[in-house]
Order: sequence, then structure tokens, then C-alpha cells
Amino acid sequence: MILNIADVVDGRKREMRFDGVVVIEQQTAPFNHNTDRSSAIDVSGRVYRSGDMLWVHMTYEGMVQFVCDRCLKPSEQAVSGELKRQLSSRDEFDVEWFIIKDGKLDLAQLLADDLVVELPIQLICSQNCKGLCPQCGADRNEQSCQCEEESIDPRLASLKNLFN
Ligand SMILES: [Zn+2]
Ligand SMILES: [Zn+2]
Repeated sequence: MILNIADVVDGRKREMRFDGVVVIEQQTAPFNHNTDRSSAIDVSGRVYRSGDMLWVHMTYEGMVQFVCDRCLKPSEQAVSGELKRQLSSRDEFDVEWFIIKDGKLDLAQLLADDLVVELPIQLICSQNCKGLCPQCGADRNEQSCQCEEESIDPRLASLKNLFN
């Protein structure tokens, strides 16, 4: 969802309200996105001018679609929150600012930036997910394999090679 906020940027309006559905695409998502479903997030907020500064303030609520970092199965998680960021047309990096180009605000990118902070680094389907076996690829939630018993600590394995 790209919002045209040129009227507020140029000072013709002091404030602009918006609401709608932001769809977070795979390339924007700060997590392993499930490619079969899109993450649709309801947003509602406003862009406004305060002195020399431009701000966006909004609330959001929806579901993010991801694949589990451990077992790679599709899963989803509810997200909701509130974000407030200062906007700038200056193309300089500053963590405090969100950069707008040509009077347009990319709400999906803005939201993705916030979700990076809000979501855990690893998104998993359940706290109990056992993941895939790194050796044979079996889903340990569904079957057990023999690899665990046979595996040797890699540091010990290299030591073992030294003595051979
Ligand atoms: Zn999992
Ligand atoms: Zn295995």
C-alpha cells in the first residue's frame, strides 16, 4: 500500500488520515515468508505535520504468514501494535527516520521495519517444534531417525581424524 502524502509534505494540508489493508510481500518480509499466502495487515492511522517535522502514527492488526525456521512448514502468527515514526524526504540514513520518496509513503516497508523489531529473530510453528534432522532431513515432529545416536560432535570428529 503506497500512500500519496504530497499534500502534507508540501504543506497544503496539515494532516491526512488513512486506513486499509497492507499486504506484505515476500521480498519485504523480515522473516521466511510463506509464498502460498500473503500476510494481510489492517492498518489505520494518520500522517501529520508538527512544526517542521512530519510524522506517521498508526495501529495495525493482522496475521503474518511464514514458514517455520526449524521444520519449514507453513504457519501463521497474529501481530498487532502501534507505531510512530518521523518521516523525511532527505535521502540520508538515520534509524529515527523513515525515508519517503516523491511524496509517497510505502506502508508495507514501514510496517516491515517495525515487525523486524517486534517479531522474534526466529519464527517457529511451536515452542516444541523439533525441526528437521540436519543429516537425513526427516521431520523430527513426525518421525524419529537413527542419526542422533550415531552423530558425533563435529569438534570430536575432527580430533578423531587427526589421530587416524
Ligand atoms: Zn516447526
Ligand atoms: Zn536423521
